[in-house]
Amino acid sequence: MKEPADRVGAEVEDVLIMGSGPAGLTAAIYAGRANLNPLLVDGDQAGGQLTITTEVENFPGFPEGILGPELMERMRSQAERFGTRFVASKVSRVDLGSWPFAVQVDNVIRLTRCLIVASGASARLLGLPSEKKFMGRGVSACATCDGFFFKEQDVLVVGGGDSACEEALYLTKFARRVRIVHRREKLRASGIMQKRVMEHPKIQVLWNAIPEEIVGDARGVTGVRLRDTLTGVLREEACDGVFIAIGHLPNTAVFADQLETDAKGYIVTHGGTSTSVPGVFAAGDVQDSRYRQAVSAAGSGCMAALDAARFLEEKQR
Ligand code: NAP
Repeated sequence: MKEPADRVGAEVEDVLIMGSGPAGLTAAIYAGRANLNPLLVDGDQAGGQLTITTEVENFPGFPEGILGPELMERMRSQAERFGTRFVASKVSRVDLGSWPFAVQVDNVIRLTRCLIVASGASARLLGLPSEKKFMGRGVSACATCDGFFFKEQDVLVVGGGDSACEEALYLTKFARRVRIVHRREKLRASGIMQKRVMEHPKIQVLWNAIPEEIVGDARGVTGVRLRDTLTGVLREEACDGVFIAIGHLPNTAVFADQLETDAKGYIVTHGGTSTSVPGVFAAGDVQDSRYRQAVSAAGSGCMAALDAARFLEEKQR
């Protein structure tokens, strides 16, 4: 690390965890219970993606459902109970070239024997101010999380890939009508997904259209202003909800050229949660573009803490 930064004495952490979603907090619970005194750096959004959802109804153990932010608060309390120390900031740099690893948080360099990367992925958003304004009040980036709240309603899904098709198909279980808004006149999705979408009686595709503004009132979304990508003409389509499905981006920027990633930028894990650097483990959405569920992220967070404990034991032998 070239820029000057203070080293925190000679103290070396056993386990430093990046990320405070289900993967990071579960790793912290397990590492804490293994007496590894974990240090957890929250990241940009404390609590992760679940804090932008409403009710979570598929996390085992909560038959009546639980609000996403409350579930994360409970996981955080549980991690605290077993001695996790939290840093309300984000990692700006890492150096995995020597061991113990150096991790920069603000202007402080911390050293750690194990690093658990649970920095998650972020849904790509359109970047409209109105999208932010109505997030959680009619705008969502997760049909599995929020679809249930659109029973017998009229929803739009933005995107043309497999995610958009999958979200649209999922939403047909609840919604009265699902319209996919795609900016071109051909879907990017795989053939089979396209076929399912095109043949579904509840789904229509609005071709060559891009949302310009999401409109609504105090109760939430009432429609979307669309721009025709061929003619530039604006029109408004009434709807009750908008699902953004234009892909996810793994939060791996600080690891550029230091950890093996796949073509989409997700960290490659093998044999559990091991990465290309021994002592660095990855859990949750940062290494999973497929399942992306809170419960699967929590499961891999548990695995990462167990893998880290085993790594430290072997180092001491
Ligand atoms: P993707 O394949 O990158 O598709 C993103 C879609 O969003 C594209 O249609 C793109 O339009 C559109 N888009 C991107 N930015 C946009 C913007 N700013 N405004 C409007 N539209 C925008 O992403 P994905 O659908 O999330 O899929 C990611 C990967 O996961 C793929 O490899 C996919 O096969 C896989 N996946 C598989 C399944 C499954 O098999 N069941 C399910 C989900 C995901 P253009 O087409 O014009 O670029």
